[in-house]
Amino acid sequence: MLLSRDELKARIAELCKEKNAIIMAHNYELGEIQDIAHFCGDSLELSMKAANVDADVIVFCGVHFMAETAYMLSPDKTVLLPNEKAGCAMADMADAGALRELKAQYDNPFVACYVNSTAAVKAECDVCVTSANAVKIMQQAPKDREIIFVPDMNLGRYIEEQIGRKMILWEGFCPIHHRITPDMVEKRRAEFPEAEVIVHPEAPLEIIHMADEVLSTGGMLRHLNATDKKQFIIATEGGIIYRMQKEHPEKQFIPLSEQLVCPDMKMIRLEDVVKSLETMTTKIVVDESIRINGVKPIKRMLDLS
Ligand code: SF4
Repeated sequence: MLLSRDELKARIAELCKEKNAIIMAHNYELGEIQDIAHFCGDSLELSMKAANVDADVIVFCGVHFMAETAYMLSPDKTVLLPNEKAGCAMADMADAGALRELKAQYDNPFVACYVNSTAAVKAECDVCVTSANAVKIMQQAPKDREIIFVPDMNLGRYIEEQIGRKMILWEGFCPIHHRITPDMVEKRRAEFPEAEVIVHPEAPLEIIHMADEVLSTGGMLRHLNATDKKQFIIATEGGIIYRMQKEHPEKQFIPLSEQLVCPDMKMIRLEDVVKSLETMTTKIVVDESIRINGVKPIKRMLDLS
């Protein structure tokens, strides 16, 4: 029998109570998923929450590396990813074996990874960063060691500029943010000359240079609480606009382009969450030897944040 959206939401609430489960969702998820989440946030906020969550089960509405991170921080919990196909094209651009080979070419490099990386890649690193804390953390990198940054070259270039240091950059990128062009920004600015342009640091550096603000999704939401401005061009994955509009109905949010949609972030539906809780699938686990090494850079990040 097909359930209505309201019936699905009621069933999810019932199952969460029964299983002592908490639903965590990334800011890019579909609106209906953000609405049922107990906690919505960016990668840093979700990691911090996962480290201190008071529940037996975490239903992670996001992509695979996020659920892995939650598991690494809370291995005593059951971590469920409601759609096992939800991955991250950028995280898949780096693998641990190739990173080990790169590390071997340098004398004791300091290795930093963006949180958008696999557990096995994290296990090769000294510190992890998110877009919310990357500059602050990389400013604290040892001055006497070369830095390898993996996998996002766009975020890496932004960090280089902010901290005034060159790094050895992995040539990965987010296909969604990487497709942003100067033409897109110019066109929208011409249409909405009063609007503030807010860009995510996964965008190419030339786009970042055109922005009024460069912020993580969590940073964008905090910025909106603090500003009196009324109109914004949003240059990141479009899912964030749902939350922006919900929290600020008096403000106008214009997507930079309708093309900025991550298919992986749109895979989880209410039906998947119900099924996930009913069948306790798909459980995300990380091999313990990888987890022990992979959680170290995440904990270091949380300590430095
Ligand atoms: S938006 Fe980009 S970085 Fe985020 S999950 Fe999709 S591919 Fe990965």
